[in-house]
Amino acid sequence: MDLNLLNEKVENAIKNSEKYKTKGNVATYIPELANVFEDNFGLSIVTVDGKEIHKGDTDLRFSVQSISKVISLIMALEDYGKDFVYEKLGCESSPYPFNHVNTITTKAANPFINAGAISTTSMIKGKDSKEKFQRFMDKMKDWSKDKDITFLEKVYHSEMETTDTNRALYYILKSKGIFDLDVEDVLNRYIAGCSVGVNTYNLAYIAAVLANGGKSLDSNEQFIESDNVKFTLAQMSTAGMYEESGKYQMSIGFPLKSGVGGGIMGVVPGKFGICTYSPRLDNTGNSLRGIIVLEELSKELGLSLFE
Ligand code: GLN
Repeated sequence: MDLNLLNEKVENAIKNSEKYKTKGNVATYIPELANVFEDNFGLSIVTVDGKEIHKGDTDLRFSVQSISKVISLIMALEDYGKDFVYEKLGCESSPYPFNHVNTITTKAANPFINAGAISTTSMIKGKDSKEKFQRFMDKMKDWSKDKDITFLEKVYHSEMETTDTNRALYYILKSKGIFDLDVEDVLNRYIAGCSVGVNTYNLAYIAAVLANGGKSLDSNEQFIESDNVKFTLAQMSTAGMYEESGKYQMSIGFPLKSGVGGGIMGVVPGKFGICTYSPRLDNTGNSLRGIIVLEELSKELGLSLFE
């Protein structure tokens, strides 16, 4: 991929998206998420051959939120294997919002709505809660090549205090026999995972590892088994943008995962990983300006996997 061309198209797309700067609203259902500067925008790209583009607020730490569901899915697949994971979990998209009770029938619809991520979180191995979460943090640090990834205490406490919907989802899953673990342990780890503070560079780097078939960009180490990369990217395409996943596969056309913190992580297989950050969301909970930029880039550079 020609880096100059990529850079030029990125600059144009960001410029053209400026008119959306004040459109959409930050998430407030987790009170601490409202305490961000609403108009911030950052974009990072990391290519599979290690080249980088960074524009705007790329150093800013924001909470990873639902993008953490990608890490939990990969860990559940690594720890228990695909057959076990998908006995407990569906793989189809859901027409309901990410925290809706209807996302659960006999099991959660997919790993990228809350009920699904609560399920994958229950499948992360470790001798105790602390070790299970430490393993999760270590993966994020290794794959993003950033040992300084932080944990946003305020976001964590704010969500723990207001998480009755997720608690309800936990009990519905428990009543279906999906798991029988300590509710506070699973909820704590799910919400702690959502409260990890990342910047666009971190998520672009993790996305680049996925774009590189799960291989580290610096060494030959296979960070993520290639089959698990394949399953994860398939799920990001079908369910990564909640109930509007199909729509964005039509307009953007590569695997995506968004979070209500304002991040969108995208994977262009064989080419690059990308992350946009802009905390104003649309009604579905996806970053509004992030989508606008990704749509223009995809169109200008022919990035859709379906063309
Ligand atoms: N922590 C958030 C929640 O459980 C994650 C949701 C999201 O990013 N869509 O509601």
